[in-house]
Amino acid sequence: MRPARALIDLDALRHNYRLAREVSGARALAVVKADAYGHGAVRCAQALEAEADGFAVACIEEALELREAGIRAPILLLEGFFEERELELIDAQDLWCVVHSAWQLDAVERARPRNPLTVWLKMDSGMHRVGFFPQEYRAAYERLQACPHVTKVVLMSHFARADELDCARTAEQVAAFESVRAGLGNEVSLRNSPGILGWPNVPSDWVRPGIMLYGATPFEQAHPLADQLRPVMTLQSKIISVRELPAGEPVGYGARFVAGRPVRVGVVAMGYADGYPRHAPDGTPVFIDGKPGRIIGRVSMDMLTVDLTDLPAAGLGSRVELWGANVPASQLAALCGSIPYQLFCNLKRVPRVY
Ligand SMILES: *Cc1c(COP(=O)(O)O)cnc(C)c1O
Repeated sequence: MRPARALIDLDALRHNYRLAREVSGARALAVVKADAYGHGAVRCAQALEAEADGFAVACIEEALELREAGIRAPILLLEGFFEERELELIDAQDLWCVVHSAWQLDAVERARPRNPLTVWLKMDSGMHRVGFFPQEYRAAYERLQACPHVTKVVLMSHFARADELDCARTAEQVAAFESVRAGLGNEVSLRNSPGILGWPNVPSDWVRPGIMLYGATPFEQAHPLADQLRPVMTLQSKIISVRELPAGEPVGYGARFVAGRPVRVGVVAMGYADGYPRHAPDGTPVFIDGKPGRIIGRVSMDMLTVDLTDLPAAGLGSRVELWGANVPASQLAALCGSIPYQLFCNLKRVPRVY
């Protein structure tokens, strides 16, 4: 059996969820969209269900997967419905629904659900992706209030730059939101992971932690709260071949790496078809039998190569950590011009072990 594995630490997931709740003092919807950022939505939701205030997903397909697995907790559809007829299932499956567009609002007004509907009304406070502009928001809110079948409206918005801790944009978005919701007694929800960890004074009845649940920092620099997160995923594999090469010999496609001295090369069963980033440069950190090592040569589809020259005890069968506690996914992502979100979501083919 190919030794590539993604080990998922569900205790770490619970630890990170509790941290989100603790530092925000709010109720928290665990964001498990995109198969829980590659960690397995059903298993992650099951691990959190006893304590989670609810879950959030991107679409009804993801919500149904959780319901079919027996998850009874509230589930919010972060983009609401994509077609009006989904409202029937939203009603039948007791889902919460974002409304971010005029056509969705029209559809909610027309709906005649059997059960009371909970709507999260989204404001575009400056992200400029979806949501009602501040000047349209109050009218949209009044229309929902006038629907007898809409029994609860949560006021929400989303930050574009909360990961930039010295950027004024987040405060501007909060101000835009606050100016419109002033006087409304409804619950509010603004903060994603960087908002939770980096912006403590934003009003919050609900927070929406995603990446922090999985233990990756959303920030480029060290941060005292983000440093308390525990990585949930360890991506690991083993060395399946070893060879020694004299100085001057190239390694791998395109001869990107050329040995400047005699090298011992280890081949690891992990490649970009597993979701490991192909753009990892020479020198990218890995951990080999618990010791720091580095990638040399281009990452191929199913294999990558590491330098074993200074690790004489390592060899065939040595365990290699590609990311995890010793190689933070955010550090690797930064080296590859990416973000930990994308590394996690790209994971495929690798069996997950819980
Ligand atoms: C994905 C998403 C989140 C979670 O964001 P993180 O940065 O991963 O914490 C929160 N809110 C909305 C609306 C989202 O789409």
